[in-house]
Amino acid sequence: MFDVIIIGSGPAGLTAAIYTTRADLKTLLIAGTKWGGQLQLTTLVENFPGFPDGIQGPDLMMAMRKQAERFGTEFVDADFTQADFSKSPFKISTADTTYEGKSVIIATGADTKWLGVPGEKEKIGRGVSSCAPCDAFFFKDKNVIVTGGGDSAMEEALVLTKFARQVTVVHRKDTFRASQIMQDKARSNPKIKFVLNSKVTEILGDQKVERVKLKSPFSVIPNSFRDLPENKEMLKQVQHDTSEVAWEMPIDGIFVAIGHMPNSKMFSGIDTDGKGFIKVFDHYKTNIDGVFVAGDVHDSLYKQAITAAGFGCAAALEVERWLSNQ
Ligand code: NDP
Repeated sequence: MFDVIIIGSGPAGLTAAIYTTRADLKTLLIAGTKWGGQLQLTTLVENFPGFPDGIQGPDLMMAMRKQAERFGTEFVDADFTQADFSKSPFKISTADTTYEGKSVIIATGADTKWLGVPGEKEKIGRGVSSCAPCDAFFFKDKNVIVTGGGDSAMEEALVLTKFARQVTVVHRKDTFRASQIMQDKARSNPKIKFVLNSKVTEILGDQKVERVKLKSPFSVIPNSFRDLPENKEMLKQVQHDTSEVAWEMPIDGIFVAIGHMPNSKMFSGIDTDGKGFIKVFDHYKTNIDGVFVAGDVHDSLYKQAITAAGFGCAAALEVERWLSNQ
């Protein structure tokens, strides 16, 4: 029987574990087969306090994990499969084992949001990616696009410029959610071009990505693409005042950077908002007494490693208080 079972091994889960074990609570952490969360997929993290020269994402996660292990957190490197929150103690299962805990912290984070257009799913790993730091290397001297208009899109585009010949940011609006500093960095990079007010509607190619189909106002289609054989026919009948036209851009890869989805679906009985973020009641409690939440699975606003770590700390302190009141 564990005092607390933490589900998830990103900054929220690992910070929670450091706090609960230091409070002498018997702690189990279900880490998942791919432990470490989104920071395992990044390179340099420059905004985590304490690292004036930045730190590699996987190094930061390894340091957090070692710290949690040092205080006695028990790790299970298996995927969470289901939870039974119907009565105490709560039952938390992986494929082959069920564990019992007096309390639970859900810290399952969030996953990549995909466009959901034809040709996307089957080409993941064959020209479709959501992680420039992981895959940019494969696009040396190639032409790629990044979809999205937030900080992630700018960051992906900047990472890609280290390898790709040209990076085109395709965004559905002409305004960005990205911070000014990231926009400025992207705009001042000569390898990055922008195609705005445009949507990717299909990803084309035989085995791998060869082209994307876009819908744009005629005016934003760069001249270099208007005369391509695949576009000539499509654009021939277009009135220049038509609001949206279909056209194709030959590319070697597409990086999808349109946000993330909270990993909350697998918890039945836990209340979420319309977008799937777990609802937080007083002090990191969910709607079920004894089940707490921390990090990107409830935080639709900040989504930073440092805020996730902070939420993990807060949830752990609340668990400690809740257990001592029982
Ligand atoms: P955001 O939610 O900030 O931005 C998502 C972008 O994708 C928006 O521009 C949105 O367009 C677009 N989008 C969403 N859905 C679709 C769709 N179906 N089709 C086309 N476009 C779509 O997510 P991010 O991942 O960029 O950032 C998340 C958080 O992480 C932010 O708080 C950000 O600041 C932070 N972050 C910080 C970094 C840093 O500091 N270096 C790096 C990366 C992220 P629209 O605007 O039209 O809705």
